[in-house]
Amino acid sequence: MNGPRTQRSLRREGRMEFDTLIRDGTIVTAVDTYASDVGITNGRIAAIAERLPPESARQVVSAQGAFVMPGGVDVHTHLDMPFGGTTSSDDFETGTVAAAFGGTTTLIDFAIQYKGQTLRTAFDTWMKKAEGRAAIDYAFHCIITDLPDSRLEEMDALVRDGVSSFKLFMAYPGVFMLDDASIFRAFSQAAKSGALVCMHAENGGAIDVIVKRALAEGKTAPKYHALTRPTTAEAEAVSRAIALAEMAGAPVYIVHLSCNDALERVREARDRGLPVYAETCPQYLYLSIENFDAPGFEGAKFVFTPPLREKWHQEKLWAGLARDQLQVVSTDHCPFCYKEQKELGRDDFTKIPNGGPGIEHRLSLVFAGGVGGGRFSVNRFVELVSTTPAKLFGLFPRKGTVAVGSDADLVIFDPNGEETISAKTHHMRVDYSMFEGIRVKGLPRQVLVGGKLTIDNGRFVGRPGQGQFLRRRTYSGV
Ligand SMILES: [Zn+2]
Repeated sequence: MNGPRTQRSLRREGRMEFDTLIRDGTIVTAVDTYASDVGITNGRIAAIAERLPPESARQVVSAQGAFVMPGGVDVHTHLDMPFGGTTSSDDFETGTVAAAFGGTTTLIDFAIQYKGQTLRTAFDTWMKKAEGRAAIDYAFHCIITDLPDSRLEEMDALVRDGVSSFKLFMAYPGVFMLDDASIFRAFSQAAKSGALVCMHAENGGAIDVIVKRALAEGKTAPKYHALTRPTTAEAEAVSRAIALAEMAGAPVYIVHLSCNDALERVREARDRGLPVYAETCPQYLYLSIENFDAPGFEGAKFVFTPPLREKWHQEKLWAGLARDQLQVVSTDHCPFCYKEQKELGRDDFTKIPNGGPGIEHRLSLVFAGGVGGGRFSVNRFVELVSTTPAKLFGLFPRKGTVAVGSDADLVIFDPNGEETISAKTHHMRVDYSMFEGIRVKGLPRQVLVGGKLTIDNGRFVGRPGQGQFLRRRTYSGV
């Protein structure tokens, strides 16, 4: 290391160029794989070259034997979110620290508009939850639950403030669900402003009837959460969402797609050339309805929506990722502790808070199953977990790539690092892991957020509050 005096003299001579230099790594982007060093100044990538002189930097990080990839972008998380009389157990501090451990350096969470509220109130409320706490950069989608004509212009106002995507629900009648007319109005407004609408696609009306029948028959165990939400209810809603978007001339992004039936509808639409996109989540790639065989009430750990499906869907989803029928893997991280939170539904599965913890293990699970499993390339991996989510949600090229001028959000990813996922060692504030006992090969070794070393070989060396709010451009790049 250079002493401060040497640094000053080097700077005078114009040779002291970088705050941090990442050496001897292999850069991986969505399109390229090549050996190069990366020089970082003022939080941004300042140089990429085969060889940068180590004496030109204050701090040198070795990436020997590892990939240097853009930080993960998780566009679907629920931190500090009220649901069913309780609140998701990670806040913006614990959740973003856990995300950083897993190589995610940007997240997009959801600001919820409750009935009668302005969209601005939702945004302000969630900004306060995150302020001064996040260890990684963050942005918001706005969930709309109440959309009279008088609120349509509020959508455009939020877009101007950097909230350039909205989430609508076709499920949870009486709570979040919007009718088709409101959904169509929202798509039409988004078509004008260039915003992107994210859709929770399940036929909530039909599901509610099936749920009531099950309860009347005394079927109250956790597995009935899955058995009362058929794949057809998801596929129907995906079709309807695509049709409403097509009529309005708007793009649509289907969140947490869980099954082959729904995937078929997305594939058909994309084959017709429509701007239809969809994400899936690691839980649908690794878990199945068989997880409800867990003893006692433990199936509650796997209660989230859409539910887990039969095992054969997993391979269809992996193939969908490989063939670009699915474009993104996000987590839908929405943790509730097993004790006292999931237990609220001991006698009635409809009272189990819906959600599971996943923010920490997305990169390792997708790399291990996708690249390690021989299903797609390391470049496709980067595209799925970083580049495409950054592009769709107005963050590229600041996020989602390794390029001069981009934020120095970087993961030094060791393809040979191994770990067994467990609640005993994870960093999320939740008392169980959905992926308990699963062994993954491929782990983040170091993580930089805005050029600052934040994770160093299993230690958090960053600072809560170092994350910035990101004003996003629109889907259409405005
Ligand atoms: Zn969600």
